[in-house]
Amino acid sequence: MIYSLEDFLAHAIAMEDESAERYLELADMMEAHNNLDVSKVFRDMNHYSQLHRDSIMERASGINLPKLKSWEFRWTSPPEVGDEDGFDYMMEPFNALEYARGNEVRAMFFYQGVANSAEEGSEIKELATEFAEEEKEHTEALDKWMGITPRP
Ligand code: ZN
Repeated sequence: MIYSLEDFLAHAIAMEDESAERYLELADMMEAHNNLDVSKVFRDMNHYSQLHRDSIMERASGINLPKLKSWEFRWTSPPEVGDEDGFDYMMEPFNALEYARGNEVRAMFFYQGVANSAEEGSEIKELATEFAEEEKEHTEALDKWMGITPRP
């Protein structure tokens, strides 16, 4: 799919906004789980997502962005662990990291796909390439944490 700059910016803002929200939930979940290290990882990720969203919004100022009804590459819902009430407390840190990683990878593919189909030298190509690189770094950071977090 070929995106206009407006569409692309609107998607990127929505994605970063959602990922900020999810990371906050995951951070709270890990706190409830008494895993303060992983909670901090998620709080940092929340912070980066917010910063990224704000910088994209700054870039988009003055541009009339389309309203998105839905978009591809939303975060998947968290995997079911236990019954619904128990969910918050039962998701192990490793599962939470794995879940976040899956969504980072999907975001990376989204940005890469946009970069690949964008015109050479266009601003979208430049932005999407930069964003894909950023998601790759997030994925690697989560990999690192998964490597030192006990498997449930
Ligand atoms: Zn990310």
